[in-house]
Amino acid sequence: MDEKLHIGTLCVQAGYHPGKGESRQIPIIQSTTFKYDTSGQMGRLFDLEDSGYFYTRLQNPTNDTVAARIAALEGGVAAMLTSSGQAANFFACVNICEAGGHIVAAGNIYGGTFNLLGTSLRKLGIEVTFIDQNAPEEETRAAFRPETKLLFGETISNPGVEVLDIEKFAKIAHDNGVPLIVDNTFATPVHCRPFEWGADIVTHSTTKYMDGHGVAVGGAIVDSGNFDWEAHADKFPGLTTPDPSYHGLTYTKKFGKLAYITKATSQLMRDFGSIQSPQNAFYLGLGLQTLHVRVERHAQSALKVAEFLNNHPAVAWVHYPDLPGDKENERAKKYLPDGSCGVLAFALKGGREVDNKFMDALRLVTIETHVADCYTCILHPASHTHRQLTDEQLREAGIAPDLMRLSIGLEDPRDIITDLDRSINEALR
Ligand SMILES: *Cc1c(COP(=O)(O)O)cnc(C)c1O
Repeated sequence: MDEKLHIGTLCVQAGYHPGKGESRQIPIIQSTTFKYDTSGQMGRLFDLEDSGYFYTRLQNPTNDTVAARIAALEGGVAAMLTSSGQAANFFACVNICEAGGHIVAAGNIYGGTFNLLGTSLRKLGIEVTFIDQNAPEEETRAAFRPETKLLFGETISNPGVEVLDIEKFAKIAHDNGVPLIVDNTFATPVHCRPFEWGADIVTHSTTKYMDGHGVAVGGAIVDSGNFDWEAHADKFPGLTTPDPSYHGLTYTKKFGKLAYITKATSQLMRDFGSIQSPQNAFYLGLGLQTLHVRVERHAQSALKVAEFLNNHPAVAWVHYPDLPGDKENERAKKYLPDGSCGVLAFALKGGREVDNKFMDALRLVTIETHVADCYTCILHPASHTHRQLTDEQLREAGIAPDLMRLSIGLEDPRDIITDLDRSINEALR
């Protein structure tokens, strides 16, 4: 029933349809475990013969309801919640890539994901090649190896706000027999649904716009159900050959289009245990109900701020995908026709010293490592998150040393602009 509805209606209602006398809002099932009447009933659950709840580490009704809402928003067949965005990207990769496998990933992705792939997965025996997503297509294609299992990128990269050419990347992935995984955190399904452009799996840090209020850390993985694992069975034996830890069932044979999420739930969540708490899932569900209203405002306000900065003589450069003339603007018009996100990058003339004076002068805009919630906040990666890197290393990571990341919240944009303007003037004094 959810499929033909517009995105705003799905934000409010998808995944939860209470019956007579049931609670209007999604109930919080704050329970670790669930009760059964016979030993046989419980046994069938452990064999994945019956579906049902038995332990919240594997599944919980509140989490499943909210996951179903996210699946509907992305147009996927199934979704699961995780304790964080990091856990979502970790599971999304290791669900199909084991020791000996190889990943091709855009190099401009979120620093946490860059470390996850480049440091921690490497320690687990998974090789990673980072590519420049704007380099000629042959360079990306050349990064693939026989043991490559997936291609990874972000719809809008954090912190560089670069837009991924999803359609091109999906084609490259599929030509190499692997899925494209897209982290859609910054765009949200309100502004871009990567499955419509050929992506196979989408991940989220729900900590950002989906929650939207800076309340709960969380993540999600959504499967389009479109990737044909069986057609590349030799590459993905975890999905296409019997799982001895479940009495030899084969995920693709038993679960069809639900194979990927079922495996991630019943194997990875069982063993690695990064479940989102039902209380946090409830907050996420609340956040989703206003997602369409909020992200529209975030993008409108960010464009106003970007235009103000662009016209300010003390500003060295501004980068915001929706800004006419921006290097990402053509791609943004294609993939993000209704607006991109609330995050922009810019620098003041005069380098780090002026940047730091400016940030110290801010009153309404706060200095935070967070982004993408209702509060406007700013961060200077070279002085904060990436301060261990040299200017050269920063440039290699796609971050200009003078780049400040500004995340526009839901305050009145006039007040945000006033605070920025006053602080720029103070920094120049
Ligand atoms: C924040 C973020 C993550 C990590 O999410 P957490 O919820 O902080 O673990 C992953 N990807 C992107 C694009 C992010 O912005």
